[in-house]
Amino acid sequence: MEHASASEGDTLASPIGRASGGDEPDGARWQRLLAEAIRDPQELWRVLDLPPAALPAARSSAKLFPLLIPRGFAALMQVGNLNDPLLRQVVPLAEESQAHPGFVRDPLRESGAGHAVGLLQKYQGRALLVTTGACAVHCRYCFRRHFPYADLPRGRRWWSDAMAALAADPTVSELILSGGDPLTLPDSQLAALADDASAIPHLRRLRIHSRLPVVLPERVDRAFLSWLGASRLRPVVVIHANHANEISDDVTAACRRMLEAGAVVLNQSVLLAGINDRVDALAALSEALFRAGVLPYYLHALDRVEGAGHFQIEEGTAAGLVREMAARLPGYLVPKLVREVPGAASKVPIPW
Ligand code: SF4
Repeated sequence: MEHASASEGDTLASPIGRASGGDEPDGARWQRLLAEAIRDPQELWRVLDLPPAALPAARSSAKLFPLLIPRGFAALMQVGNLNDPLLRQVVPLAEESQAHPGFVRDPLRESGAGHAVGLLQKYQGRALLVTTGACAVHCRYCFRRHFPYADLPRGRRWWSDAMAALAADPTVSELILSGGDPLTLPDSQLAALADDASAIPHLRRLRIHSRLPVVLPERVDRAFLSWLGASRLRPVVVIHANHANEISDDVTAACRRMLEAGAVVLNQSVLLAGINDRVDALAALSEALFRAGVLPYYLHALDRVEGAGHFQIEEGTAAGLVREMAARLPGYLVPKLVREVPGAASKVPIPW
């Protein structure tokens, strides 16, 4: 059955993947879990008992884009199965070194764009702030897998410049925190940022794009929820899950906590060959999200980044999948099929 829960099949026992938490203060626990994430291919192979023949290629692909997988996320994967749909998203493979026509290092041409250097980028009514280059997981299909995050400016200066630009533009009603992943930042910094933003009268919403509620649901702790729920700005959290197996009980609970704190919680996915390119998988994801109180928002066509060509799905196939979803599900469980186009002010819908 496609919609297998994390507890079905031969998955890791919880002591490997899930820490007990104990008396750790908020903030300390998720930061420790992130510090303990799997970074070495050999360790991943050991934990998941993967076929040794694929390890050398994993080692060389991880040199191009490092491996990073929280142990709790690894615990949702089937032991011994290199084709597990969660593992395929994050495991370095030999296919990453194959060239594919049209796949380039900077598919969205960000290197010349404002937010590529950490500055504010404006869309109609919205402003986007790249808060950090860090993530809690490295998705092999990420369009920023070659991004020079080390060049991002550090410290408060760029942030205060961004706030000044926001305050000066009354047309902006929503601030989007992006990255990397903004929830890799400590709550003290995020709360200060939310405070500064809420002092700008024309801002009404604070949107956070994050994969942490999915790959490290412990991140949704009291410290996070307290500033999120206390802000004058209406919070919107856009999580990122691609397969129903990612929506574990812990992830469901984390989403419910965000809803209880007053956030609107949406999901965006990427359509990925070998992971979610069947209507059963996509429908199961929408149903699992809905059970967690989350609405499917976007289904992205893959950004054509070098090293990710093996995830590609033709647009005609993608459109057919969404047509099948629409025939099977209520409209609110059918995400918008879109593609990012360099320079476009918003995502471009793919007709189906
Ligand atoms: S979490 Fe998002 S930004 Fe980070 S590697 Fe994955 S897709 Fe890229």
